[in-house]
Amino acid sequence: MWPAFIARYFSENPDMPYYLEAVAPQDNLLMVPELLQQIAVADDYSTETIQLAELGGVRYSVFYLPLRDYQGERHPELEPAGMILLWEDVTELVDAFDRSVWVNIIYAVCGFAFLEVLLLWYFNREMRLLSAEKASDVDGLTDLYNRRFFDKTFKDELTLARRSKTAISLIVCDIDYFKQYNDTYGHVEGDNCLRQVAAALKQNLKRSSDWVARYGGEEFAVVLFGTHHCGALEVAGRLRAAVQQLNIPHSGSKVADAVTISLGVATLHPDDETTDFFRRADQGLYRAKEQGRNRVASIQE
Ligand code: GH3
Ligand code: MG
Ligand code: MG
Repeated sequence: MWPAFIARYFSENPDMPYYLEAVAPQDNLLMVPELLQQIAVADDYSTETIQLAELGGVRYSVFYLPLRDYQGERHPELEPAGMILLWEDVTELVDAFDRSVWVNIIYAVCGFAFLEVLLLWYFNREMRLLSAEKASDVDGLTDLYNRRFFDKTFKDELTLARRSKTAISLIVCDIDYFKQYNDTYGHVEGDNCLRQVAAALKQNLKRSSDWVARYGGEEFAVVLFGTHHCGALEVAGRLRAAVQQLNIPHSGSKVADAVTISLGVATLHPDDETTDFFRRADQGLYRAKEQGRNRVASIQE
């Protein structure tokens, strides 16, 4: 710029360190220094980026472009001869963007809450179904498996044993003189006794594949998958001793001072029908009762 030109302009606007050549008709010259204050102009004027500024509630996108004269082109370290500053009112655009961000946040929060509720509902439902299923398989008094579970699982295990040619044994147990026990001590004590006997049977099964169910009133069935006859006789003997060792007084018993059980043992033959197998175990139990109770018997070799 020629000195005379600068002198004229800067004498008119002494506070303005810029010489402004032109602005669009709807804007005023005085907003330019304010815009320049808000945007970061690189020291060497090299960075050309769009930046956001705000004046009186209006949002502007601001862009600058350095102007270089002949000298400036040859010596890039010199300041540019001038600068083209472009700005545009983008208030609506920015507001729309802000709104869309908020809408997205609200959608995300609502979606998350909905998912949480859905998961909670699903989890509760599964838990209810699981506990209902469990309840339908478990005997309420003793916490052992019930007759329903015994019938379906025993059948499945027999099929598996036949198919895989694995041994399987069954022990049926019955409390001796239990009618007398109820008559002497009452039904509440009778129930208590059943619970203790059940717990003793369960505790004295060692393998994870062994399981016991309450088959009837004071009758229990023990299934030993993978156990041969002599092994099953041994387990039965252990169960008999464990119940007697509970030492539950039974003055009405004709075989001992304490509660005892009689047990019948059977092991699956290859050509057995399911009913034959169970009947043999039951016949073993009758034999144990006949022979005097508090003992293990089998009609098998
Ligand atoms: P045995 O030595 O021949 O087995 O004589 P027992 O008196 O045990 O004869 P039985 O097996 O026929 O008697 C079963 C009795 O068990 C009948 C009933 O009073 C009693 N009982 C069955 N279920 C329950 C029960 O849930 N609670 C109680 N307290 N008693 C039961
Ligand atoms: Mg009975
Ligand atoms: Mg009995």
